[in-house]
Amino acid sequence: MRKIGLIGGMSFESSAVYYRMINEAVRTRLGGLHSAEVMLHSVDFQTIVDMQKAGRWDDAARRLSEVAGGLEAAGADCVLICTNTMHLIADTVQASISIPLINIIDETASSLKAAGIKRPLLLATRYTMEHGFYGDRMAGHGIEMMVPDADGRTLVHDIIFNELCAGKILDTSRNALLRVIEDAKAGGANAVILGCTEICLILDPTALPLPGFDSTAVHANAAVDFALDGTAARAKNAA
Ligand code: GLU
Repeated sequence: MRKIGLIGGMSFESSAVYYRMINEAVRTRLGGLHSAEVMLHSVDFQTIVDMQKAGRWDDAARRLSEVAGGLEAAGADCVLICTNTMHLIADTVQASISIPLINIIDETASSLKAAGIKRPLLLATRYTMEHGFYGDRMAGHGIEMMVPDADGRTLVHDIIFNELCAGKILDTSRNALLRVIEDAKAGGANAVILGCTEICLILDPTALPLPGFDSTAVHANAAVDFALDGTAARAKNAA
């Protein structure tokens, strides 16, 4: 079994979900008491949030490249950045290591394509919804994403940082997110991407007004595919 390196802590609430999902998938696929070979480097999220707020993406890229290099040196066979937002600098991190970085955007695009979805709504942080990196990469896979209007984007961003990353799950926020999805459905969206790794803590992707694609679950499963048979999309591209 190949070893999975996780760059986590962004936030630790979602890293815990990755850890559980990866191990559950390995147990399900291999049976018995099998579990994953995982290495986790969990960073101090506040230091990363400070860089995000100041637009210091180069510093963030240096920091996560350092962490990725440490995981490679420790024997990891692949790395995952356990947040959508920090995929803004994923290509720089990939260029700094010689093991594959399993990209959450590529993996989510693959599962949307497999389901024949072309026009999904993205729920994510402001950085992910408003910087071009996510939409452009999705467009490269033939997927034309929608994002909420300005008020909707502020609402989703604030719920992520003020509540989900802080361990708070509120029914009022769940209902507000469901309203954003209903509006997008009326506007032509045919699926919803839970494009922040904490959103699965508040929304069940199987119980939404539109088909849900949980980036955390997709990413965790891609890591298990790679660990067990080397078929995650990025690894295929690199081969
Ligand atoms: N985990 C979140 C994401 O998937 C947000 C945290 C961050 O800003 O990295 O984007």
